[in-house]
Amino acid sequence: MAKKKKQNSNNQNENLSSNQAEEMITRDIFVFAEIIKKSDKMTLHAVVPELLNAARELADKYTNMLKVCSIICTDYNIDSDFENIKRDLYINGSDKIYFIKSEKIQNYTGIAKAVSEFCKAKIPEIFLIGATIIGRSIAPLISSDLNTGLTADCTKLEITNFKDEKKLAATRPTFGGQLMATILCKNLPQMATVRPSVLQKRGDIYKEDGEYEEFIPNLDDFCNHLTILNTEINKNKLSAELENAQIVVAGGKGLKNEENFQKLIKFANLIGASYAGSRGAVDMGLIGKEYQIGQTGKTVAPKVYIAFGISGAVHHMVGISNAKKIIAINNDENAPIIENSDIAIVEDASKVLDELIEELEKNGNA
Ligand SMILES: Cc1cc2nc3c(=O)[nH]c(=O)nc-3n(C[C@H](O)[C@H](O)[C@H](O)COP(=O)(O)OP(=O)(O)OC[C@H]3O[C@@H](n4cnc5c(N)ncnc54)[C@H](O)[C@@H]3O)c2cc1C
Repeated sequence: MAKKKKQNSNNQNENLSSNQAEEMITRDIFVFAEIIKKSDKMTLHAVVPELLNAARELADKYTNMLKVCSIICTDYNIDSDFENIKRDLYINGSDKIYFIKSEKIQNYTGIAKAVSEFCKAKIPEIFLIGATIIGRSIAPLISSDLNTGLTADCTKLEITNFKDEKKLAATRPTFGGQLMATILCKNLPQMATVRPSVLQKRGDIYKEDGEYEEFIPNLDDFCNHLTILNTEINKNKLSAELENAQIVVAGGKGLKNEENFQKLIKFANLIGASYAGSRGAVDMGLIGKEYQIGQTGKTVAPKVYIAFGISGAVHHMVGISNAKKIIAINNDENAPIIENSDIAIVEDASKVLDELIEELEKNGNA
């Protein structure tokens, strides 16, 4: 594994001596391979292939010595699905997989501690984590334990030259989305979280197999102060898992009232879609903030996005820039979303919803 020859003093983490730090620094890019349970199977979160693809592109720009390493650390038992998970990681861009194992890994605090102990042993250049519920929980714990910086919720990752060094340039919205800030991190690892569906996964197979290593962290001194007694799924919030949705039906201010918004939810349920809203709809109290699509909301990449009564402001459209097809229903033919859609219906949104629901119910979809 290539070692970094000369390390800028700024890059040495304060809790390590310079010699120690220099020995441990790898030139690798780590990607946290978040595991989720889906239909009784353990699998990778959809953000992982997106991060791996980004990591590969960064590795190629940085220097050809960088490896992309997936870090598996989970409190799930993944034995039965392990081979599939491993294969998916290589296919999507991993050169190497590290599997961090310990009985003390019982919830996200244990995961964070184990991963940060691992990073102390093998300091990566860059560490990418999905801005998921787990990712957002562990990333700040890891970065504070490693005494390094974390750029959260990034929308773009690039490599830039700064004082004769290549650095990760992580861009994220700031000041409520009015500005985009590009942030460099002076310590290692340079950490960033990225929202699901913002980046693209690769279209081809990277490799079928690769390097593999297990790591047992020393967690003797770790006292897990958090005990999870019970986990309950909030079914209302579940449909806010929009990032992976194949079809999204969204409503805006043009729906005008609660009654029409309920029609939209009914239509979404009839066609098996997730539902969402513009900020206009959120501001009117028609739908919760966790369902908002756009710059200060969620980013989605469905096969079909159906927008009822949404004008298509730029702040909204950035959230659907990866949607494959956009269908817009708006009574104003000059609304910006009409021009940006694949299919446009210039009509009253409520009337179209009534007709669609009637048709679907007639055909036995109720
Ligand atoms: C910093 C910043 C961040 C922002 N972030 C976001 C964000 O994350 N997401 C977001 O969505 N917005 C965001 N916004 C707000 C954004 O600029 C728009 O104001 C918002 O998207 C408008 O919501 P809307 O399309 O529902 O409402 P409007 O712009 O009011 O559009 C309503 C549309 O409905 C149509 N309509 C009216 N009546 C009917 C009818 N009967 N049938 C059919 N169509 C009808 C109208 O023609 C119009 O096009 C942000 C703004 C700022 C400044």
